[in-house]
Amino acid sequence: MFSLNSAIGNTPLIELKNLTGISNIRIYAKLEFLNPGGSVKDRMVSYILNEYEKSGKLQRGGVIVENTSGNTGAALAMLAVPKGYRVILTMPDKVSREKQETLKALGAEVIVCPTSASPGSPEHYVQKARDIASTTDNAVMLNQYDNRLNVEAHYNSTGPEIWNTLRGNIDYFVAAGSTGGTISGVGKFLKEMDPKIKVVMPDPIGSIYYEYFNTGTYSQESISTYQVEGIGEDHIAKCMDFSIVDSMMQFTDDMAFSATRLLARKEGIFAGGSSGANIWGCLELMNSLEHPANIVTILPDSGVKYLSKIFS
Ligand code: PMP
Repeated sequence: MFSLNSAIGNTPLIELKNLTGISNIRIYAKLEFLNPGGSVKDRMVSYILNEYEKSGKLQRGGVIVENTSGNTGAALAMLAVPKGYRVILTMPDKVSREKQETLKALGAEVIVCPTSASPGSPEHYVQKARDIASTTDNAVMLNQYDNRLNVEAHYNSTGPEIWNTLRGNIDYFVAAGSTGGTISGVGKFLKEMDPKIKVVMPDPIGSIYYEYFNTGTYSQESISTYQVEGIGEDHIAKCMDFSIVDSMMQFTDDMAFSATRLLARKEGIFAGGSSGANIWGCLELMNSLEHPANIVTILPDSGVKYLSKIFS
């Protein structure tokens, strides 16, 4: 009670009535940008820190290392620094100055690595984090891509919150993914409660997930750059559980960013590009349905960070 941790989760679920109009389809969006760290990642970080402390993996004066420039880094700095932990975050130098400075403002140590470093080389930001963690006393990594606790965090909080708020009246859950923690945890919980619920995953063109889901493999040629941040991947995260995904769809940056702006103008919800991607997915799904349905999605973070990229 009264702790910052207690302010995480139980985010509002809003019905997007202007986007659906008079249709018999309802779209509900969970406002994850209202978490104190500004994103859905607060849930995972809070859960993992708690589990690490309980198990003794993280001890007084411990060091937490992670490769992240974004929402996970902010959540980690916000929750771990005030507890006396040392937080070291590695990132490529393409990350904006504002993002780097935000993490420093929260007390994290930021190590900036050359974007041009090849994966696996000591200068690459992922390798750098691993090297620091393995050579620093009392250091742990969150390891968000492969850590089952990431999925568990959403299975135990986001999923039940959605189910309880709508009293189980859910037909579809729509979410893009990167680590896959959100979609896998929420999807698993909802399907256990009602196996008829379908899980739909939008994926940016340039990510490997769509091809991997449909063919069981992927080629290097399917990897390309895209502008939407925080979703899609160039490797398969262990947290990403494709067994709970029923179908996938692919979108362009333009589709995601147009939907982000539509969400702002039609519903007054100022969210980020991955939220736009999820809304695009909901609208595509809505247009393909010929029966009434309740669709639920996630709005992972706010539009503030993307003003110049999406709204200018
Ligand atoms: N949107 C944003 C803005 C994110 O930062 C992330 C996490 N990378 C996601 C969506 C996807 O969440 P998850 O990692 O749980 O798949």
